[in-house]
Amino acid sequence: MSDRFPRAIELGLAGCQTCGKVSRLVLGRCPRCDSKLFMRKPDSVRRTVAFMLAAAALYVPANVLPMMSMIEMGVVTENTITGGIIYFWQGEAYPIALVILTASIIIPLLKMVALTWLCLAASGKIKPTPGTLSRIYWLTEMMGRWSMVDIFVVGILVALVQLGNYMTVSPGPGALAFAGVVVLTMFAAISFDPRLLWDRFNALQIDSSPSKEIDS
Ligand SMILES: [Zn+2]
Repeated sequence: MSDRFPRAIELGLAGCQTCGKVSRLVLGRCPRCDSKLFMRKPDSVRRTVAFMLAAAALYVPANVLPMMSMIEMGVVTENTITGGIIYFWQGEAYPIALVILTASIIIPLLKMVALTWLCLAASGKIKPTPGTLSRIYWLTEMMGRWSMVDIFVVGILVALVQLGNYMTVSPGPGALAFAGVVVLTMFAAISFDPRLLWDRFNALQIDSSPSKEIDS
């Protein structure tokens, strides 16, 4: 007796991406909300990679170009993200420096690395164990929850600094590039269909199973 249940994909059933209703793919559109039905997000890996490349291209100017210009006592200073972190660190505002470092440099970079890794796994270029796969996927999901932190931090940063009467902050060209990175990594994450990972794992499981049983 097999302990393997048939999968929705084998039965021609698709879950609606909008309302979650499971219906037959041949219907073409969801009977409940009229959204287009598809088994997996179309061109998922290719779209994710395209958004990731665009985000990676903007990651450099986001870190190199001035993120903000500060006017302090009539003196204008332009700061990159790294410069900003050093500025706050030297000013002994350690928590702010650490939050900016995490949200502006570490999180976007981790998001890009993890998504690239997941794309490689989904397209079969690398063959991780199911345990590693679920851990990296969990990490990506966790980062997804914090994906708005980067924007939030820029908001807080500007608000905090504007509070001082003697100092004003305005965004520089780096901020535009940074916003681009945030939006593009968000699109990349949305375009990625995690079910592709488990499809591959499922295929591997069938391949390695001695009986190669498939429920009808
Ligand atoms: Zn629906």
